[in-house]
Amino acid sequence: GVPIIFAITPTYYRLEQKAELTRICQTFRLVKYLFWILVEDSLDKTSLVRNLLKNCKIPYAHLNALTPPKFKNIPGNTKFPRGVAQRNEALDWIRTNVNPKETQGVVYFADDDNAYDVRIFEEMRYTNVVSVWPVGLLGHKFESPIVKTGKVVGWIFVWGAHRPFPIDMASFSFNVQLLFLHQEAAFNYTAQQSMQESIILMGLNVTMSDLEPKANNCTEILVWHTRTQRTILGHQPKHPANFSVDLE
Ligand code: UDP
Ligand code: MN
Repeated sequence: GVPIIFAITPTYYRLEQKAELTRICQTFRLVKYLFWILVEDSLDKTSLVRNLLKNCKIPYAHLNALTPPKFKNIPGNTKFPRGVAQRNEALDWIRTNVNPKETQGVVYFADDDNAYDVRIFEEMRYTNVVSVWPVGLLGHKFESPIVKTGKVVGWIFVWGAHRPFPIDMASFSFNVQLLFLHQEAAFNYTAQQSMQESIILMGLNVTMSDLEPKANNCTEILVWHTRTQRTILGHQPKHPANFSVDLE
């Protein structure tokens, strides 16, 4: 059969959330055999996300995991890693609900604000251990593995040379079987934001020689680390108080 892509997306409420999720949903609709694990950073699942998933017409799991309040960033401050509790919830969901003997597939961390060329999903779909590729709009214009004779031998990046894997969450996928071979592999809040990719890859016991370069030997950019600007709205409505639209 065709390997399934388990796309894990942490998401949280802000004015732009529905726009971001509409865009990613409609990208995913173009990808066959993709299973969306959407994890809300909230105490309860919201009707906004529930409705969006119902209308999206792709297979999904709707989960929630609240970021512990002591690890929640205040706006403008990015001290704590984001998406940790949500991605861990999704990894545990896979371990509990997917039968590794009957399932071929890959896991990909698809943040709700990035921009995806649908071709990246066909690049990652056939992954033996871990696939890697460049990501646009990071570092100095892009970050990328360095490939020599078909093997990953180093990295192009700007910050954080101490990292075992100086790469972004959007730049790799791994075979779902690794989750079952390494039951304890998980993200954590004690490591800094830029270390999260290394934490999970080390938890999965990945080494450089395991890495499979994709996107034409890492020469093509098929995913971008886009970030949506915070929307500044008028302070007072100018429309009649009885005029409303359905925001969910
Ligand atoms: N996120 C979350 N809770 C938060 C902040 C972020 O669930 O309090 C999610 C967000 O929706 C995204 C992922 O975590 O899918 C990474 O966050 P963000 O895109 O803000 O990080 P950046 O790209 O700026 O590093
Ligand atoms: Mn982002």
